[in-house]
Amino acid sequence: MEIITDCISPHVGKVREGYMRLVWRETSKIKERARVVAWSCHCRSAVYELCRAGGQSYIRRTDYDEKGETVYETYRWSFIKASEVWAALLEGRTV
Ligand SMILES: [Zn+2]
Repeated sequence: MEIITDCISPHVGKVREGYMRLVWRETSKIKERARVVAWSCHCRSAVYELCRAGGQSYIRRTDYDEKGETVYETYRWSFIKASEVWAALLEGRTV
């Protein structure tokens, strides 16, 4: 049996008890020109990206299903705040 070990990027953690829920706003399919600072592994049906644009930061989520892709974004924060949320996401403290 072949074991697939090509996951390099981190996976979003399984949600833990008492997690915080983020507001995901659906956005247009045209992705904003943002600098992607970090991203989650593409082996999952939802890919998360930590983005920076115009001095603000946010997290972008792209859901892939049979209909195509749907893009969501969080609110805009400072990079420090966005990095905290990113860490929380990977640890399953937020969803
Ligand atoms: Zn993976």
